[in-house]
Amino acid sequence: MSEKKYLSLDSSILYRCNQKYFDKRLAKYEIGYTQLILLAQIYENEGISMNELAVSGVFDKGTITKAIQKLEQLGYVKIVASEVDKRFKSLYTTEKSQEFMPELYRIRSEWNAYLSEGLSSEDMDAYYLAMNKFIEKAREYSKIEFDKENIDVKFYGLQKLTLLDFPGNMATTIFTGGCNFRCPFCHNRSLVFLNENDQEISSQDVIDYLSSRSKVLDGVCITGGEPLLHKDIANFIRRVKDLGLKVKLDTNGTSPEMLISLVEEGLIDYVAVDIKNCKEKYALTVGLENYDISEVEKTVAYLLEGHVDYEFRTTVVKEFHEVEDIVNIGKWIKGANAYYLQNFEDHGTCICQGLQAVSKETLYEMRDAVREYVKKVDVRGVRD
Ligand code: SF4
Repeated sequence: MSEKKYLSLDSSILYRCNQKYFDKRLAKYEIGYTQLILLAQIYENEGISMNELAVSGVFDKGTITKAIQKLEQLGYVKIVASEVDKRFKSLYTTEKSQEFMPELYRIRSEWNAYLSEGLSSEDMDAYYLAMNKFIEKAREYSKIEFDKENIDVKFYGLQKLTLLDFPGNMATTIFTGGCNFRCPFCHNRSLVFLNENDQEISSQDVIDYLSSRSKVLDGVCITGGEPLLHKDIANFIRRVKDLGLKVKLDTNGTSPEMLISLVEEGLIDYVAVDIKNCKEKYALTVGLENYDISEVEKTVAYLLEGHVDYEFRTTVVKEFHEVEDIVNIGKWIKGANAYYLQNFEDHGTCICQGLQAVSKETLYEMRDAVREYVKKVDVRGVRD
């Protein structure tokens, strides 16, 4: 009788036998096969998020949530909420799980040795080669499906139509929540310090709205808060691009890796980066003592290389900015395509009260002083 070969059936038999073996061997630890896989992943990647865990093992979120809750109840895993945004949670192993990980690896090695008994190293190499190819293809398929279904970004505002936020385009502006800066002059206080009762708009609702308006809109402006704090923002932007819309991103420049990966994937059409002040006064201006500006410097250097259309901009506040500071910013961003100075406006919603705009004359003086460093400089928010 010829031996029939069914890839998915064979994989499923192997999976179920794996499950039976590990469930039995791990029974005294009160965990099963799925928890074992998750625990090993957390142990090898301390601080991993639920979402990363789901993506790495192609798990659905329900399975992950249940399994992690069980691991936490049993004292094997700690869940730590981010200080910046409580909705983001990182996972860590505990002393209890760290103690039994060597045993867990031993159980796994024994099973591998049992399964591969009698096979040569060439047989094993051939198996791993083929298996890796299958997994790569299967992941590719699952990633497309996963990315479409799981977008863990919530929004806290949607302005249906703007002609100003995305220059030259009819756009919708959407606001993410949470920020890693505390700029005293920030007028989006409610977006920086999120309240539990704040009304959220789901990614799907935003996509549905944009989809219904995609024929009349040119693009979307994604602002915040700080949009790049949201790990799923790439998935969201992919959906926006699927609708044929352009994307403008407003960012404080603190996540250069994320920005670069979005740009390299062709997901961003225009970036506006806030340059809060000259390097020496950065920490003071973003409200964080001893802030290290190296990430912002990376963002600036990358944009100056011209990979995407961009602008730099500074909100000018009397208490924080002198003409000399703006000149120093000019030297830093030397050669930039466009730089805008926007005068501070007090809407009564700022993080700190009592700050003031500079005079129109000072703003123009700043503009003229920085002209020699950038290709284009202009002022915004000035009424003649
Ligand atoms: S101004 Fe921008 S970067 Fe600063 S706290 Fe507000 S949202 Fe964050």
